[in-house]
Amino acid sequence: MLTCHQVAEEATEYMEGAGARTRRLRVWAHLRVCPNCREYLRQLSRTIGLARRALAPPPAAEVEDELAAIFAAHGKGAAE
Ligand SMILES: [Zn+2]
Repeated sequence: MLTCHQVAEEATEYMEGAGARTRRLRVWAHLRVCPNCREYLRQLSRTIGLARRALAPPPAAEVEDELAAIFAAHGKGAAE
């Protein structure tokens, strides 16, 4: 049986579906009996989801609004 520390180390790989099948099975077996690690993985997946969304390009409408705001701000201060 893996320790909680070992599960934490393998958590990212496990959630991405990477890693050797036997290692994944050992993590899975640990998660079956350890509510702490289940909670840890749940929070980690949420954090990863948020990070991925933060790094993703914004929707086009948001970009247009942002550019319009930037141009408006520059237009006010520009001498040209
Ligand atoms: Zn655990």
